[in-house]
Parts: sequence; C-alpha cells; structure tokens
Amino acid sequence: MKQICLLGATGSIGTQVLDIVRNNPASYQVKAISFNQNLAKATEIIEEFKPALVACGDSVNEIELKKIFPNIEFAKGMEGLLRVATYPVANPVVINALVGSVGCLPTAEALKQGRSVLLANKETLVMAGEIIMALAKENNAQIIPIDSEHSAIAQILTGKNPQEIQRLILTASGGALFNKTRSELKTVTMEEALNHPNWQMGAKITIDSATLMNKGFEIMEAAHLFRVPIDRIDVVVHRESIVHSMVEFVDGSVLAQLAVPDMHLPINFALNYPSHKVLSKKLDLTKIGQLTFQPVDEERFKTLPLARYAFLKGGFYPAVLNATNEAMVELFLNRLVTIDQIEEEITLSMHDDCLMDNYRHLPFNLENIMKVDQDVKNKKFQKFKR
Ligand code: NDP
Ligand code: MG
Repeated sequence: MKQICLLGATGSIGTQVLDIVRNNPASYQVKAISFNQNLAKATEIIEEFKPALVACGDSVNEIELKKIFPNIEFAKGMEGLLRVATYPVANPVVINALVGSVGCLPTAEALKQGRSVLLANKETLVMAGEIIMALAKENNAQIIPIDSEHSAIAQILTGKNPQEIQRLILTASGGALFNKTRSELKTVTMEEALNHPNWQMGAKITIDSATLMNKGFEIMEAAHLFRVPIDRIDVVVHRESIVHSMVEFVDGSVLAQLAVPDMHLPINFALNYPSHKVLSKKLDLTKIGQLTFQPVDEERFKTLPLARYAFLKGGFYPAVLNATNEAMVELFLNRLVTIDQIEEEITLSMHDDCLMDNYRHLPFNLENIMKVDQDVKNKKFQKFKR
C-alpha cells in the first residue's frame, strides 16, 4: 500500500491523482494533503479520503475545518506544506501538484529526507534545478516527472543508455493563441487565453501555454531531469497533442510516446514508475487520421529563447525569469496587463542589469532563491498595480 502525501490536492493535477486513488483503493491511501483557498473542494476530499493531516492556505480555513473534522490534524502556510512533504508514514509517495514557486521548498524538504518526489510543479526545477537535482543525488532520492512531455521522455528512456541520446524533441500544442499575430494579442481577453484547445488545466499553466513560456520552462525542466545540454533540446509544434515528446538517438532513430491527451496517464506512470499499469482510455489513431508537426516561430514566441538564455546565464536568472512570469500571469488574470506584456516584461527582466545587480552578491542557495522570487514579484506588482 502506497501512502500518499499530496501537495495541491484541490487543483487540476491533484484531483486527477485522487481519481486514480479512488479507482485503486487496494494500492493507495491518502495520508496528508494540502490546499490553499478552495475550502469546498478540500472539505469534499477530506470527507472522501480521510487524510490524517491537512495543510491549509491560511488560518481562516484551518479554523473552519477544525470545527467539522475535530479528529484530523491541521497545519497552515509553508510550515503546513513542509509537514505534508515529510509526513511520517511507512511507504510514502510525495506528489507535488502545487502551482508556482511555493512548490520549491516542499520538494527540497522531501528530497532531504531521502523521499522521491512525483513532480508536477515544474517551477521547482525552473527556479532551482541545479540545487534540487543535487539534493536528489545526495539523498539518493528520485524526481519522477508528471509533466506529460517529461513523462513521455522518461517512458522512452526506460532501459536505454543515456549516452546514446542525440536530442530531445518536446512537442508543443501551441496553446490557445497560436494563430494570433503579435498585434492581435493586445486585445486578447482572459477568457480567450484560458480556452486551451486540448488540455483542461489550472489557470496559470494555461496562460503559460498560450505564451509558450510553459514550453520554455519545459526545456529547462528537461535539461535538469535528463542531463541533456540545452542546445540539444528542440521544440516542435504539434497541434493535436497526441505525440507527447520524442527522443532522437545517435543512430538517427526517433522514438515517440503517443497517447490521448489526459494527465491521468503520466500521473499513473509516475505512481508506478517504471511500470505501465492499467488505465481505460485508449488511443485510436484511425479516428485522428493525421498528425502534424511544424517549427516554432521564435520571433513570435520569444519565451523560448528567453528560457534558454536564463538557463545558460544560470545563478538567479532562472528564478527571476520564473518570478517575473508568475507575477505577470497573476496581473493578467486580474486584468491589469495585456497578455503580450508578459513576454515583454520577462524580456526586460532578463536584460535588466540593475535588477540583476541586486542579487549578484547573494550566495546561491534555496533561501536566497526564495528571497529573489519574492523581491522580483514585489517589484513587478508595484510597477503594474496602481
Ligand atoms: P491548479 O491551479 O489547478 O492547482 C494548484 C494547486 O496548488 C491547488 O491545490 C491550489 O490550492 C494550490 N495552491 C495554489 N497556490 C498556493 C499557495 N500559495 N500555497 C499553497 N497551495 C497553493 O494547478 P495545476 O494542477 O494545473 O498545476 C499544478 C502544477 O502542475 C503546475 O506547476 C503546473 O505547471 C503543472 N502541470 C499541470 C498540468 C495540468 O494538466 N494541470 C500539466 C503539466 C504540468 P486551491 O485550489 O485550494 O487554492
Ligand atoms: Mg507539459
């Protein structure tokens, strides 16, 4: 019996993890969960899965839930998240389905205890990939990706010699605004940007998909996870989201992973890594008919070169990239900026020597990465929240 410590239980990934648990009660038990604001969903989850520990976003929700569930242990804020990540059980499986930089420290804490982490929270690797991968190595813990592209690559690479990899090829759906010109972006509404053609996901990653920042993050994520130089990670636009990624080997052979676009599959694979366990949805290629591939226009989507730039600069650059994006996406979701301003502001951050000078002297560690994250967000909020 695997005992699940689930960070971000109320979200898109979190609830899909819970679907799998619900369908396999003999294999999994939910022991600890976290949520932030969605009290109604959290209440349902607690009633159904009866976790022993619940971490709440704030004390208001904590007090509310304590009244309904007097026998459950509660915690809140970052301390709560760290407790979920390290909750003492015999056979722990830590799943990080938090969104944003708040996921970084819980990943690190689980790894420090030698616990493997099933990671959906890509921001962890974007902002602190080097430190996180080193922690995993030191503590003999694994990071098993949930992100569909990285799951595809992990599936392809099972049993392969990493020396034989020539290139990783990430597929990109192109998101909701793929056919819009740069000038058309000025008038794109939040609703249009949130209308992803193939995937139902949380708001933040749906906007990241529309700007292709998500694919930039995934290049960085792949470089860390699979230790492939970033100039050997390519992106191809594949509107159908059936091929989830590919690996080219040194002999020119290209292996791809195909499946219906449904996150239950990568979650299920991560839970059983490296085995494939039964799921019901099957792919029928005859119904799809054709699969298309096209290059990315990196003039239109500068988020890809920006991600490579941040990765190669290293140090606090990736954290600044991530924080600028997170702040700008939040501002866009509050209708305070237009969607094209997200990329514009990231471009400014990446080339703002004054901004980066603030951080240059800081020792490179997780504590300072989190400080930089907060500082950049504060600056961006000050600039746009009038
Ligand atoms: P959602 O927004 O749907 O869910 C996020 C979860 O994190 C919710 O449980 C939310 O709580 C919680 N949360 C948000 N902010 C905080 C905070 N400040 N403190 C504590 N908890 C918080 O996101 P997704 O499930 O879509 O994405 C999760 C991660 O997985 C992201 O990193 C995303 O990039 C990645 N991912 C997602 C995919 C998808 O299909 N959704 C695909 C591939 C990767 P509450 O709702 O209660 O407020
Ligand atoms: Mg992905």
